[in-house]
Amino acid sequence: MPSRRKFIKTTAAAAAAGLTLPRLADAMPAITVRDRADKPATAFAGLPVIISAANGLKDRNPQGQSGIEVAYRMLTSGADPLDAIVAGVEVVELDPTDQSVGLGGLPNEDGVVQLDASCMHGPTKRAGAVGALEDIATAAAVAKAVMDHTDHIFLVGPGAKRFALQMGFKEQNLLTDQSRADWMRWKEKLNSSDNWLDPIDARRPIRPAPRARPDDDSPASAHVYYDSNGVPHTYGTINMNAVNARGDIASVTTTSGLSWKIPGRVGDSPIIGAGQYCDNTVGAAGSTGRGEANIKVCGAFLAVEFMRQGMPPEEALLQVMKRVIAMTESRLLDEHGRPHFQLQYYAVNKKGQYAGACAYEGSQFAVHDARGARLENCAYLYKKSEMPAGPISGVMIKP
Ligand code: ASP
Repeated sequence: MPSRRKFIKTTAAAAAAGLTLPRLADAMPAITVRDRADKPATAFAGLPVIISAANGLKDRNPQGQSGIEVAYRMLTSGADPLDAIVAGVEVVELDPTDQSVGLGGLPNEDGVVQLDASCMHGPTKRAGAVGALEDIATAAAVAKAVMDHTDHIFLVGPGAKRFALQMGFKEQNLLTDQSRADWMRWKEKLNSSDNWLDPIDARRPIRPAPRARPDDDSPASAHVYYDSNGVPHTYGTINMNAVNARGDIASVTTTSGLSWKIPGRVGDSPIIGAGQYCDNTVGAAGSTGRGEANIKVCGAFLAVEFMRQGMPPEEALLQVMKRVIAMTESRLLDEHGRPHFQLQYYAVNKKGQYAGACAYEGSQFAVHDARGARLENCAYLYKKSEMPAGPISGVMIKP
């Protein structure tokens, strides 16, 4: 910390040189929050309620139930809110066709699937997390086991796997045939002068041109886009937050993170306060999308703090998005100051009011309350027509 004397001296020197220190308001870009004609003012149904990323409603278990339905059924049968949502995200973790979470997640640059997850339990003020976990599909349950069985909060890498095995979790290869084929295609197209030949398309055909923009509702595409070589790129995650009928709150986030990441890279999902956060007196929030952007603003914590100050969830999340953009380095902004990435936030308060918000129009989130399970549109800062050219996903597209 600078001493008071040093601060006064520095400030005086800056003033003498004709410099003024920036105020926070000056540092924020001028961004207009749009009125959204497509979404009625939230007529929320009260408690209990669960919200999640859209894959909470899209991915299903072999019995045909979505993750948010499994969680809601447990919640309304009296289960603890964290037990309910950990079971809910497990549906997504175990769905091999979702290449952004758990089993079937796209691997790192070595072809190894590494998972990140964290959770918080409002009533007991406890938290657990795992980072770069290998060979165990249900990372959220492992994060909860860290919370339940240790005095630690965060285990990573081989230590996290060892702990999971000691807890009786099943070891399995998380790389599906499809994800292995996608990894090989990525490797083969990485460098034209290396010793890998181009993909043999007869053996591994390019899948039909799915090019996910935020408004693309194609299956398993929530955060996936395909480059011109047919290589999928994904961030991709599920965050789920629940408030039960008594107003007790819990949050969880689980992911395989950024595809083709450098081994050991940990995103925002397992970081308490970034990937998810929960305070039983206020509410819960979480994030999916470019974790590197979210970590720098502690987005989930910041959203809960804005709600504590009295903001409704939607306003809190849009304020967090603005903070993200204010903290984004210029190489990731276009000439208008708009980001070359997508990021989604989700928040619910203790009364059961909820929202999703993102940088660019088009993302949806899942809700389950007494009115049933459904997708709703996220609030946003920028119209689709304002997106920079090229693929926009959770993925960085500007070198
Ligand atoms: N936020 C996750 C990460 O950066 C990925 C995602 O949500 O898409 O690892």
